[in-house]
Amino acid sequence: MDWMMWIVPVAAGAIVMALLWRNYRLHKNIEEFAGKVEQALDVISSGGEWKPEAQMEDSLWGRTETQLARAAHLFQRKSEESRRERVQIKGLISDISHQTRTPVSNMKLYIEFLGEEELSEDGRQFLKKLQTQVERLDFLMQSMVKMSRLETGILQIQKEPGDICETLRRAVAAVVPDAAVKQIDLFMESSGEVMIDHDGRWTQEAVFNILDNAVKYTESGGEIHVALTRQEIFLKISISDTGKGIVPERQAEIFTRFYREPEVHDKPGVGIGLYLARRIMELQKGYIEVESEPGEGAEFRLYLPWRHAQDKV
Ligand code: ADP
Repeated sequence: MDWMMWIVPVAAGAIVMALLWRNYRLHKNIEEFAGKVEQALDVISSGGEWKPEAQMEDSLWGRTETQLARAAHLFQRKSEESRRERVQIKGLISDISHQTRTPVSNMKLYIEFLGEEELSEDGRQFLKKLQTQVERLDFLMQSMVKMSRLETGILQIQKEPGDICETLRRAVAAVVPDAAVKQIDLFMESSGEVMIDHDGRWTQEAVFNILDNAVKYTESGGEIHVALTRQEIFLKISISDTGKGIVPERQAEIFTRFYREPEVHDKPGVGIGLYLARRIMELQKGYIEVESEPGEGAEFRLYLPWRHAQDKV
């Protein structure tokens, strides 16, 4: 009855082998399943057309495929809807801008005519106020058009190698007259040439918006410093001022569309400058941040990526 002694270990071995084999198959199936789901999600999320296998069997994968097919359909419908909405908004904004252009130009002309007339002191004051409001309206319309063109991709950001110092110099030059009127000293702490891929025109606009704010929100006699720092992955443009500063609770909000702090309503502006600056940086794969203490000035930092992060300067 020797063979009876072997029966238990052999049976146990067989069970262990069967369990191991089952475990291995299970792992393999899970891997295959996860791989298929991953592939499907890749196609769906990149906006491609995902087609389920021809026959959907009543298995776990079959049921998952049905759900994925539904999700893909929904996703495509939503992105088509949002594309259509974007086109509509773009059309609406360009219509409004087109329709308001003539009345605004006419108003400017009439204001000019009125300015040549004999007016009372009160009349002059009202005319001045009217002129400011018309200019604000004009600026607002132009900014809306710019914003919608940027958002809908009509205006494309084109990065090409260029000297960022030159871009900064052009932005600084544009605020010199206003800074001079307020006797604010402007310092640019970088000279020479620093080549980096960027869109010169749009980056200049972003930097100008920050500098323009620095001049607006800094008292007479203050200072503004512009500096460039080479970092590991990004090039940092820092613009700091000695102005009123921004309380921490509002530091995220100031980058949103049309946000203006309550205390600045007597100053010109429509609350679009920082929003545009942020979008311009994001479209160049960069970003923007602010550090500030109320009453202690503000430092805005704009980051632009080097083209080859790994073999950067
Ligand atoms: P605008 O200047 O037209 O109001 P922005 O989008 O450029 O719009 O700025 C949004 C708000 O952020 C401003 O209204 C102001 O309250 C605040 N802000 C921006 N820059 C500064 C700064 N350098 N110092 C203090 N506050 C600032």
